[in-house]
Amino acid sequence: MIPYRPEPLTDFTNPAESRILSEALAAVKGQLGRSYPIRIGAKELTADGVIESVNPSNPSEIIGKVYKADRSLAEEAIRSAASAFQSWSQVRAADRAGLLWKAAAALRRRKQEFNAWLMLEAGKSRAEADADTAEAIDFLEYYARQMIELSDRGRKELISIAQERNELTYIPLGVGIIIPPWNFPLAIMAGMTTAAIVCGNTVVLKPSSQTPVIAAKFVELLFDCGLPDGVVNFVPGSGSEIGDVLVEHPLTRFVSFTGSRDVGVHIQELAAKVNPKQIWLKRFIGELGGKDSILVDRDADLEAAAKGIVVSAFGYSGQKCSACSRAIIHQDVYDQVLNRCIALTKALKVGDVTDAANDTGPVIDEASFKKIMEYIEIAKEEGRIAAGGHALPLPGYFIAPTIIADAAPDSRIMQEEIFGPVVAFTPCTDFDHGLDIANNTEYGLTGSVYTRNREHIAKAKERFHVGNLYINRKCTGAVVGVHPFGGFNMSGTDSKAGGPDYLFLFTQPKVVSELL
Ligand code: NAP
Repeated sequence: MIPYRPEPLTDFTNPAESRILSEALAAVKGQLGRSYPIRIGAKELTADGVIESVNPSNPSEIIGKVYKADRSLAEEAIRSAASAFQSWSQVRAADRAGLLWKAAAALRRRKQEFNAWLMLEAGKSRAEADADTAEAIDFLEYYARQMIELSDRGRKELISIAQERNELTYIPLGVGIIIPPWNFPLAIMAGMTTAAIVCGNTVVLKPSSQTPVIAAKFVELLFDCGLPDGVVNFVPGSGSEIGDVLVEHPLTRFVSFTGSRDVGVHIQELAAKVNPKQIWLKRFIGELGGKDSILVDRDADLEAAAKGIVVSAFGYSGQKCSACSRAIIHQDVYDQVLNRCIALTKALKVGDVTDAANDTGPVIDEASFKKIMEYIEIAKEEGRIAAGGHALPLPGYFIAPTIIADAAPDSRIMQEEIFGPVVAFTPCTDFDHGLDIANNTEYGLTGSVYTRNREHIAKAKERFHVGNLYINRKCTGAVVGVHPFGGFNMSGTDSKAGGPDYLFLFTQPKVVSELL
């Protein structure tokens, strides 16, 4: 087995690479508007309802139509997954891992095509799209290796005693419901799905309604690679319409969810209720929202800090759970850092992501656009607009990167997840005060500290309560296997996607002791 290495990113300054992407974009544009079926077991189904997925840079352009499952199809999908579990759970771990490697190779070959879908359906710049595809490849490569290790582990771990043979194995759980968000429509969706199936579980995948075409393409790829029918059942549909049926069903053994705090809390409550005919306690794996801070100390490299804030706040228009939405700056350098961030932000070019000159693109849809603009209105009361603060007169959902200066630590814009290109600044009197502010939200996902003071670094390691803490670097861009990712408090169930413990969440350990 070749050791895992993260997938290299495409160098788009190389004209040959850039040309391959342009060709892929042209080919994908030729496929826009097609319809994609629901997939339950071996059946490809149509339905009365469709989800029409549009390009957020140009909402009149339809990316594709995906048939929408109703409650009865959702139930049928669970029964199909339960039936496929009988055989898939018996497939050797090495063969299940082999399927993920095959899918990784196929995805690598089609990288620029998937990048093109990500640019058009999710509004990602080419660099952000490429990072998303690379991360999906990484999840496949990494979880395949983790599964091999897990299947080997029992033999190594137990203490031998005379006259007994003892075995520890990690067996699958059963049927899982996979509910991903739209903001990493390939990587997170693929990672959540394949972590579950490589362990021998079967799943019902309900993709995000904003990005169902990318999910349909990935599911197609898995079946092209030889995935048996029923292991992944693809059930697009509105979360509010079919989510409860999927979560409540007595055959559902676990729910793996990535998305907002409120939906996650609702699912956890529902999953905790034991229904008639249910013979297990459901497991809930939740990766939820964030309100992530960058804390800049008096003696920090201020230029690096300003660049780190701007890149973390406005990459993919701030639509990352790890995005910096709070900048906490030592009062002695507050004006300097703020002014430098304003200058860097004003230099950002925003527009259609297929134009490589643009640094960042639209927000995902009209509902997001309205919500973010409402927060900008609140920000005018709670702070001072120092950059942006307005929509852009373009056909899509474009908002100028926005800096709010002088926000109070307990204001709504410093506490609530906005999930758009908005970052609020607040001064702190010293490093301890900065840490107190950084910890004063209900979330605990990512955070960064910029300082040259070793004592302050040590203090931040101990006191800054986030799942992913970065020192003297941006707070986005976790790499599978390098920065296992997931947060504390209301940011989730303390799991780490892309880390060595993740597959335990999709298995149960069984011990067999035989008297010799
Ligand atoms: P969302 O609105 O919570 O939706 C997430 C998923 O849940 C979608 O597939 C959605 O389906 C589904 N859903 C909605 N209501 C449901 C219900 N009642 N029952 C079951 N499923 C339901 O979140 P989002 O807007 O897609 O994603 C953004 C959020 O995800 C942010 O809060 C971000 O911080 C978080 N996130 C966290 C991480 C992490 O690792 N911690 C990573 C990425 C994103 P529909 O699309 O059909 O509504």
